[in-house]
Amino acid sequence: MRGKNSILNIMDIPFLNISKSSLVNDILRPHLMNGNKTFIVTANPEIVMRTKEDASYKKVVQSADYVIPDGAGILLAAKYKKHPLRERIPGYELMLDLLQIANEKGLSCYFLGASGSVNLKVVRVVEQKYPNVKIAGHHHGFFQLDDLSVVEDVKRASPDLIFVALGLPKQEQWIEMHNNQFEKGLFMGVGGSFDVLAGVVKRAPQAWINLNLEWLYRLLKQPFRLKRIFKVFKFMFLILLKKE
Ligand code: UDP
Repeated sequence: MRGKNSILNIMDIPFLNISKSSLVNDILRPHLMNGNKTFIVTANPEIVMRTKEDASYKKVVQSADYVIPDGAGILLAAKYKKHPLRERIPGYELMLDLLQIANEKGLSCYFLGASGSVNLKVVRVVEQKYPNVKIAGHHHGFFQLDDLSVVEDVKRASPDLIFVALGLPKQEQWIEMHNNQFEKGLFMGVGGSFDVLAGVVKRAPQAWINLNLEWLYRLLKQPFRLKRIFKVFKFMFLILLKKE
């Protein structure tokens, strides 16, 4: 993977050190134009901690073609390791950039994940905002990982891009489990991005994002995330103690 771009390993996860515009224009756009099969993980500290606790999930994440730093904690860890990463690449923004390319080039997209109503809303929003995108298909995200009818539906649709919003670890596991059956397609786990695109969840205001406080905004809006935030603190703790 990853050519001449530098890689920073954080807890054995190889993060690509690249700007979003270079990732999109120099790497992903050509992959899309050539129909190369590509697996992208946008990883935050929660994903990294999960790989630490679950060896099989670690293999899944390591099998990605590109692991992208999403999450202020990853950037902080990189700085601390004296190997700063160029920038944080939020999965949501990367998804919008890819939709933009799909719109320019008339590519087809499959939307897999989130609740039935959010999934439908995402399709409506894409139809409206990106009218040249071909909707190859869509399916809600509440099914068993080994439910083959879902993967069969995606295969039949033969999409150029497959956005998978099942949350971690399910979205990366689903991609890794099935993408060997595809000839082409850019597969990307997008977490809660469908909820944001559908307008059901609000992204933090830009000022919070600029201050690297998007995680705090999400925590205040969705207090059930508190348990997950402890993972982020544990991650930072391990980095600061140079245990990793
Ligand atoms: N989800 C799903 N199937 C599942 C579990 C979750 O489709 O079995 C969806 C959920 O509805 C939400 C997304 O996956 O749209 C996960 O969002 P979350 O905010 O937890 O992800 P994060 O961005 O924090 O990784």
